[in-house]
Amino acid sequence: MEYQYDLFVIGAGSGGVRAARFAAQAGAKVAIAETKDLGGTCVNVGCIPKKLYSYAAQFNESFSEAAGFGWSVGETRLDWDLLKRNRAQEISRLNGIYDNLIKSSGAELIRGWATLLDDHTVEVEGKQYTAKYILVVPGGWPMVPDVPGKEHVITSNEVFDLPQFPKRFLIVGGGYIACEFASIFNGLGAKVTQIYRGEQVLRGFDSDIRQHITDEMLKSGIDLRVQSDIASIEKKADHYLVHLKNNDTVEVDVVMYATGRIPRTEGLGLDKIGVTLGKEGEIKVDENYRTSVPSVFALGDVTDRVQLTPVATGEAMVLVDYLFGKGERKLSYDFIPTAVFTHPNIGTVGFTEDEARERFDEVVIYRTDFRPLKHTLSGSSARTMMKLVVDKASDRVVGLHMVGDEAGEITQGFAVAMKAGATKAIFDSTIGIHPTAAEEFVTMRQPLSE
Ligand code: NDP
Repeated sequence: MEYQYDLFVIGAGSGGVRAARFAAQAGAKVAIAETKDLGGTCVNVGCIPKKLYSYAAQFNESFSEAAGFGWSVGETRLDWDLLKRNRAQEISRLNGIYDNLIKSSGAELIRGWATLLDDHTVEVEGKQYTAKYILVVPGGWPMVPDVPGKEHVITSNEVFDLPQFPKRFLIVGGGYIACEFASIFNGLGAKVTQIYRGEQVLRGFDSDIRQHITDEMLKSGIDLRVQSDIASIEKKADHYLVHLKNNDTVEVDVVMYATGRIPRTEGLGLDKIGVTLGKEGEIKVDENYRTSVPSVFALGDVTDRVQLTPVATGEAMVLVDYLFGKGERKLSYDFIPTAVFTHPNIGTVGFTEDEARERFDEVVIYRTDFRPLKHTLSGSSARTMMKLVVDKASDRVVGLHMVGDEAGEITQGFAVAMKAGATKAIFDSTIGIHPTAAEEFVTMRQPLSE
């Protein structure tokens, strides 16, 4: 049977655009459908605008730290509207770049909401398209649990364009997004309350990271309340009154929920053609990203494996090779480095200490906690923490964790070494760059006692 396209991609986020471009470049006839701005969550309401706002927040720290270095900084004031405008302009520029990338690859961009009609047919705005393969990459969507007053809350979809800067900001959750936005709004000058239901934020991260970032967030002025939950949110004339389950109340201008993201599978016709979904509503795929319908593939956030942009783009490259290129290969999900852009940043790769203790017979832990050189003059009390987890039998460094300035930048390079199987002896034989924080990773000699 003749199809109009070799590949029809539903969703022009990080994974979708990458797959469409590289498939087209490999000679496939490709279409990609999108209703909204190109680039998906990462470009429009995720990684990129978040990092820009994180930079904006860091200036506040820099202003106050400058005095110790001899600078007198005059009065400072945040122009929220200007920040929003500049961010929007940059995001539009990126949307344009994505448009160019798609078109110059030879893929066809189709505007509108796509639904699956059968195993090989997609409908967009009343028009039908047939394809040999269909890739479903609609991403994820913020999940807000049912709570009285839910209609008053915002999510990461709305936070970047708040009409007024919230002087009092309350955020619910203890994951990546909640911790990052607590830091961002705190840095931008809001009074921030963070409400987390568990004992310690960032479940799944190394326990020393969790403790250290908790200390730093509290020191920076965030009112972080753990083992705390919202009972209801009440709208008052010019603010919200948030009732906590312990009967405390907090008056705020904005309530943001960052309680996880769920796969976005509604309204795509997946049920109609029999694509199997998992317990959390994620599309089930095999190791080649094939769904229960052999001509339909899915990857990225909608499969709810690892919700990270570089993982989605990595998966897209593997899929394109599988369908149109060199053939079957597997993406390695080991040692995926990641950063949380709190202030200070978190960088992490490999196993936490607890995971390593379960997996390996014996592990050796190296840890350091120090005042960074900059803060000897800056007056800041922020401290840096770095930690290595080593498998004793092989001497391999299997976990690397950091809280401190530029932790994300530092971790990326070490992730390469760790994927290559670097041992502690290799770390030790590497010359440090002095004076940096990163050099501590190659100069830690004294393990913690068992
Ligand atoms: P996470 O899954 O990281 O965190 C969700 C948080 O919400 C957890 O603390 C969870 O608590 C809490 N929670 C869940 N349900 C409820 C509930 N019903 N009531 C109260 N609290 C609840 O999700 P995020 O939304 O922060 O981020 C989604 C994903 O996006 C991340 O997992 C990450 O993969 C990605 N991301 C990556 C970034 C980066 O690379 N820098 C930045 C932002 C997002 P508990 O721990 O108890 O389950």
